[in-house]
This record gives sequence, C-alpha cells and structure tokens, in this order.
Amino acid sequence: MSNCFFCQKLNSLSSLTKEELVWNFPNSFVLLGKWQFYQGYCIVVAKQHERELNALSSDIRHAYFDEMCLVAKAIEQVFQPLKLNYELLGNQVPHLHWHLFPRYQLDPETLMPVWLRLDRADKNPEEHLHCTTSTLTPLQTSDLLRNCLEKLGAKKDA
Ligand SMILES: [Zn+2]
Repeated sequence: MSNCFFCQKLNSLSSLTKEELVWNFPNSFVLLGKWQFYQGYCIVVAKQHERELNALSSDIRHAYFDEMCLVAKAIEQVFQPLKLNYELLGNQVPHLHWHLFPRYQLDPETLMPVWLRLDRADKNPEEHLHCTTSTLTPLQTSDLLRNCLEKLGAKKDA
C-alpha cells in the first residue's frame, strides 16, 4: 500500500542505513527504534501488509513469529534486560509490527507500559533526549544485534 509507512520502508530497504536496518528476514525486516533509552529496542515489521495476525497464512504467521523471537533472543543475549516487552499494537500504523522493548533496572517506570513515558517524551524535549539516548551509538547497537543474529543463524532474504 503506497500510503503505508511500513510499506514505504519495505520498498526502500536498500536505501536504509546499517544503523536503521538491523536485519532483512524472508518474512519481516527489523528496524532499530529511536527510543534507545530502552537499549536494543527494535521493531519487527511483517513484509506482508496486514492489519491482524489472523490475516496471515499459518506458514507465514509462524515464520514471522519465529523471526520476531530470534530478534528477542538476540536482544536478550546482547543486552541482558530484566524483561522484554512484546507489543503488537498497530493503532497508529495498521501494518503488522512487533515492538520489542527491553526493560532495565534503571527504568523509572518499571511497572508501567513504555507508552505513557514516550507520549510525554514526544511533547517534552528534555524527556525526548533522555528516552532516545543510550551509552552506545545506534550503529554500535545495530552492529551488536546483527553480529548476534549472524551467530544465531538468522535467515536472510535473498
Ligand atoms: Zn503496509
């Protein structure tokens, strides 16, 4: 769909930077999210434009799920969060995408979903800076995750 944010990304994968595009799977692609206070935060976007998981064929749905879980495993191995949050919302962009938010000890709102804070960050420059800053550059983070996915034997799209 030409007016869909993620379909546009999919159509321009080759022009994305190594910082933004972490991995290109057969059924999904992985973007490094901007909220790197949650170090390793990734978005795993389905290549098929659908609003709901049940719209995917069983084979593609399972493959997409396995790809997402492999990214989760890489985030765990590289960054060792206390817990990963898996969110498949699509209220703003109705094209299947998993948000993988690692949660850490230093998180001031460990018991809350991240979105309340990120909503504040969108309106407050200081909070925005805090939520987008990590001890690594985005490229370093992407490289670490990519190297781990290589070691885990992640499949690449041809
Ligand atoms: Zn789309």
